[in-house]
Amino acid sequence: MTTTTTRPTTDHPVLDAKALWQKDKDHFIHPFTDFSVFHQEGCDLITDSEGIHVQDAKGNRFIDGIAGLWCVNVGHGRAEIGQAMADQATRMAYFSTFNNLSNAPAAELAAKLAELAPAHLNHVFYSCGGSAANDATIRLVHYYFNRLGKPEKKRILSRNNAYHGTTYLAASLTGIESNNWDFDTLDHLVTHLSEANCYRRPEGMSEAEYCDHLVKEFEETIAEIGADNIAAFIAEPIMGAGGVLVAPEGYHQRMQAVCRANDILFIADEVVTGFGRLGHFFASEAVFDTRPDIINCAKGLSSGYAPLGATLISDELYEVLGTPQRKGGVLSTGFTYSGHPVSCAAALKNIEIIERERICENVREVGPYLEERLKTLSHHATVGDVRGSHFMMCLENVADKATKALLPVEARVGDRVAFEAQKRGLIIRPVGHLNIVSPPLVWSRDTVDRVVAILDEALGAATESLK
Ligand code: PLP
Repeated sequence: MTTTTTRPTTDHPVLDAKALWQKDKDHFIHPFTDFSVFHQEGCDLITDSEGIHVQDAKGNRFIDGIAGLWCVNVGHGRAEIGQAMADQATRMAYFSTFNNLSNAPAAELAAKLAELAPAHLNHVFYSCGGSAANDATIRLVHYYFNRLGKPEKKRILSRNNAYHGTTYLAASLTGIESNNWDFDTLDHLVTHLSEANCYRRPEGMSEAEYCDHLVKEFEETIAEIGADNIAAFIAEPIMGAGGVLVAPEGYHQRMQAVCRANDILFIADEVVTGFGRLGHFFASEAVFDTRPDIINCAKGLSSGYAPLGATLISDELYEVLGTPQRKGGVLSTGFTYSGHPVSCAAALKNIEIIERERICENVREVGPYLEERLKTLSHHATVGDVRGSHFMMCLENVADKATKALLPVEARVGDRVAFEAQKRGLIIRPVGHLNIVSPPLVWSRDTVDRVVAILDEALGAATESLK
């Protein structure tokens, strides 16, 4: 496929990496960072990017194997997105969207999202990212049930190892235990079910039996808490940061059916799976044949060129949310930057590129090849599982393939593999004992071959270093 990513890098000022590192170290509190390692080793200053590559301050060039952070779906250095943002910023960078004020990109984007989403999702609530989208969603869901005269319906069912973000509410929905170490969570609002982890399912259980087991757990939890007290179930179609976990066949449809039978809303967090990563704009309907009441998206919505999140809401819910309040109040929620014109202009151009360059088709074509080629890495002693779908993949490192026992945490196996890959020109993401590959959606088969060759060497070196 052809991509147009021309952006001159030569006229950019030379950066003083040493001085920047000092400022960074002294003042920038990095998210999700182990400060013991960070303070010793410093940070990699990423200064330039183009297409599938990024470059650091020392001039090292890397293949981006994580699309920035699951988000740069159309690839880096898209001059036309930059231009669309600049045009909007110079024409009208910002004005409120509260009350009856609006702007052209926000209106255009809302209509475009309604066109791309499943037919019943026609209403968009904007936020600034994935956490905020999930947070806003839960507030809207509570508001919806309050307005229906069902104020007891408050509890949200999420899953262990889910990742839904880090605002107070989104962090409470998140089920990755270590994410909330020494933080507080809103436990009175959230109950976590088991994640759907086919690799680590109970011994001797078939995948179909495992699916029955998970659905039964859901039904039993509802019976215990009482459907009258439960507002919604939230799930990523494929669990991302929690380990790229693909649920057993039919799982999401069956969970949705249980939701319907119990007047529980079904929310799909498509912050990662949306905008092409699984070969479609939205995976819920096209891949998993479900019909969520709400879909949340962010990341690939603007390909990371500007912060943006969106909650896509069904006609049925909107009938209540959009009805004037009895008391004459307003829908008192939203952000200064809801429907930010520059972010919405970036998203519109991003979607235009995805459509024009047939990027979803590229993912449907190259994705299965990426899966097939990554699976060849299973010959390494430490690679216990290679899983995922299309451009959302993961390697699980283990000490023993037969028992699936993990290496000790101190071995930092995910970091070792990522380090060896980076030395060889590829950035992948370590998460504990996992390595995640979630590239820009413009990777070709040739790129896949190059990446798998690098990973093959990196895994060999990492395994060697563990001896
Ligand atoms: N939901 C999912 C599925 C995510 O993977 C993420 C981020 O990785 C979020 C929500 C939170 O998004 P953000 O970091 O933009 O707040």
